[in-house]
Amino acid sequence: MTRPLLEWLVRHRVRQQANIVLLDGCRVQEIVAADGVVAGVRFEPAGGGATTLEADFVVDASGRGSFCLGLLEAMGRGAPPQTEIGVDVGYATAIFAIPDDAPSDWKKVMHIPMSPQSSRGAFLFPIEGRRWIVALGGRGEEKPADDIAGFMAFAQQLRTSTLGDALRTARLERDVIRFAFPASVRRHYAALDHFPRGLLPVADAICLQSALRPGHGGGGLRGAHAGRPARRIDRRRQGPARGARAGLLCRRRRADRRRLGDVGPGRPRFSADDGRAPQGPGSHPQVQRGVEPCTKLMTQVQHLMMPRSALREPALAARVMAELTAG
Ligand SMILES: Cc1cc2nc3c(=O)[nH]c(=O)nc-3n(C[C@H](O)[C@H](O)[C@H](O)COP(=O)(O)OP(=O)(O)OC[C@H]3O[C@@H](n4cnc5c(N)ncnc54)[C@H](O)[C@@H]3O)c2cc1C
Repeated sequence: MTRPLLEWLVRHRVRQQANIVLLDGCRVQEIVAADGVVAGVRFEPAGGGATTLEADFVVDASGRGSFCLGLLEAMGRGAPPQTEIGVDVGYATAIFAIPDDAPSDWKKVMHIPMSPQSSRGAFLFPIEGRRWIVALGGRGEEKPADDIAGFMAFAQQLRTSTLGDALRTARLERDVIRFAFPASVRRHYAALDHFPRGLLPVADAICLQSALRPGHGGGGLRGAHAGRPARRIDRRRQGPARGARAGLLCRRRRADRRRLGDVGPGRPRFSADDGRAPQGPGSHPQVQRGVEPCTKLMTQVQHLMMPRSALREPALAARVMAELTAG
């Protein structure tokens, strides 16, 4: 299922809720606050102009937008610490009609890079309308081209031929779209003591990690897990008792992170991503190479089949740490 179809379905379901009103065609301008507490959203309605919708609770789901940062700045409060991991990932996506002679012994292809020799990976998934969506990705000099000739050449040069062979007779339906992503960035809003009450950033508004694993549960997964840091921020806003519990939670998590070598805000945390060592700011070592259970576990976590806490399992963590130390 493509993202537009999924979004359409969700929107359709939301519209059926009697207590929800959707305002179409609006452009948010800023989140407004009074006395340190969120007070609403200023936006431009479909017909133009500007208006403010009062609210005592605002969710910032604006993706790459930076409304939370804007509000902190407007309130004269500092920006959150952030972790930046250089990934230098590029990928290209195209859509093909599934040919009549398509192989019948598989439904999708996931081509995992052979690290550290190559960062080239690829995915092919069936989508609605009897089509395949195909994404090719690589890092640094191995990024795919944005034209169909380069796209096909990249597909043919993968170390296994399943995907390249499948595309030979497939008809291109939508041209190649290329996307590049120099770094993953996580904003540690939960580390702020002065975060405005009544505001909840979620998903990409907190963490732009999406392009690490196109087609493999990256940003979408972040979105699905978004409630966790969000709940933590919110608990800290809810008085001493709940705040104390949240503080304990944070301390425990910090202890876990120290044990696992994840060193918190401002420093890169380990990643179980495949592929060649990334470049750019905050580059971090790759640890999945040689830690075989990581591949399966990461896939399960990415597809919400396992909780993220499974990645902290002590035996696995010890192997990851051994790899880090060796690497
Ligand atoms: C090319 C590409 C491929 C990706 N592939 C995958 C993948 O295969 N798997 C995966 O899990 N993730 C993938 N991601 C990441 C995933 O799309 C994002 O992580 C996810 O969509 C983030 O959700 P979000 O709700 O935070 O932000 P978004 O999905 O970006 O939604 C933000 C919404 O806010 C709206 N908005 C922004 N500013 C304003 C404003 N001022 N006023 C009103 N509305 C506004 C935008 O129009 C948008 O609708 C991909 C991302 C890209 C760019």
